[in-house]
Amino acid sequence: MSDIEDVLPQPDPCNECHAGIMQPRQLTYFTWLGEELITVPHFPAWICDVCGRREYDGKAILWLNMILDPNAGKPTTNKRRTPPPPRPHAGTFRPIHDS
Ligand SMILES: [Zn+2]
Repeated sequence: MSDIEDVLPQPDPCNECHAGIMQPRQLTYFTWLGEELITVPHFPAWICDVCGRREYDGKAILWLNMILDPNAGKPTTNKRRTPPPPRPHAGTFRPIHDS
């Protein structure tokens, strides 16, 4: 189990320079959805106060991907989704031993 994040609410040290602290900031996040450029203002991010390294908040990215994924979160509508044909009963099939 790795629940360290929840246990330690401390600022993250920078992985790049190991000297700075990742400061919470809000940036505009850019991502491509197919051929469409999506911009998300005020996206939670972390910026190192020493080297300026940027890191977008991982949870926020997961959340964003969930929203942008056209298949996510939608209730299953009857949209030409034919269920797989019923399988024959497993009990009727028996391996044949010819000895
Ligand atoms: Zn740094």
